[in-house]
Formats: sequence, structure tokens, C-alpha cells
Amino acid sequence: MSDCIFCKIAAGEIPCHKIAESDNVIAFLDVMPITRGHLLVIPKKHVELVYDAEPELMAEVMSTAVKLSATAKKVLKCDGMNLLLNTEKCAGQVVPHVHLHLIPRYSDDSINWPWPQGSLDGETASQLVKTLKI
Ligand code: AMP
Ligand code: ZN
Repeated sequence: MSDCIFCKIAAGEIPCHKIAESDNVIAFLDVMPITRGHLLVIPKKHVELVYDAEPELMAEVMSTAVKLSATAKKVLKCDGMNLLLNTEKCAGQVVPHVHLHLIPRYSDDSINWPWPQGSLDGETASQLVKTLKI
């Protein structure tokens, strides 16, 4: 997509701090990192929302992220890692090109986690299983 910043990065039209690249995927440093070593892994092809992405393409994105997470753990000596994919505005998606965040975590970082815990009753659970099952 011509006005998409991540498509421009994927096409080499605007610079990035590239960490990994394959035929279909590119990974680069987030320019506003939440923690040291915060990376983004994206498909080169423009897809805005994960719902619309080809599962095989997202598998390549995840495969790259898993490899990078191992390297990041070793090199950065982080204490943990969050892999996060925000989808749509209410979930925090700002850039409309699907991207997987790889966020190294450090025991002394000040990121607020976890999210609040809810509860699951039996009726809701069976209804969800029935309707969501693929
Ligand atoms: P999200 O809120 O999930 O859409 O995250 C978008 C992320 O993209 C943010 O963490 C931004 O810091 C990052 N970002 C935006 N523009 C660039 C860019 N040109 N290069 C690298 N990261 C970027
Ligand atoms: Zn795009």
C-alpha cells in the first residue's frame, strides 16, 4: 500500500534498523522502544489486520520472532519476553500493517503487567467452545 509506513520500510524506501530479512518477512528495531531491544517483525506484504492475514505468512512472522527471541535472550540477557500483536484501535494498533512486537523484559523494568484477571463460568465456556471451534 503506497502510504503505509511499514510497506515503505519493507520496500527499502525509508530506512530502518534491520535485524532480519527473508523473502516474506522483515524485522527491525522499534524506534520508540518500550524496553532495550524492542523489535517489530512484519510480513513484507501489506495486510492491515491479523484476521485477514494468511496463516502461513503469519507462521513465517512467528518463526522469525522465535529465532530472534532466542538471540535477544542470549545477547541482551533479558529476564523475559513479551510477544504482542495489537489488532485494531481498541487493542492499541496504531500502524495499519500487521506487526508482531518482540519486547524483551527486565526484572527491574517498570512496565505494568499483568492485565486484570476475570473469571470463566461453565455456561460461557461451553458456549464459547461451541461457537469458536474451528
Ligand atoms: P502498534 O501500537 O502495535 O501499532 O505499534 C506500532 C509500533 O511501531 C510502535 O511501537 C512504534 O514505535 C513503531 N514505529 C512506528 N513507526 C516506526 C518506524 N518508522 N520504524 C520503527 N518503528 C516504528
Ligand atoms: Zn503496509
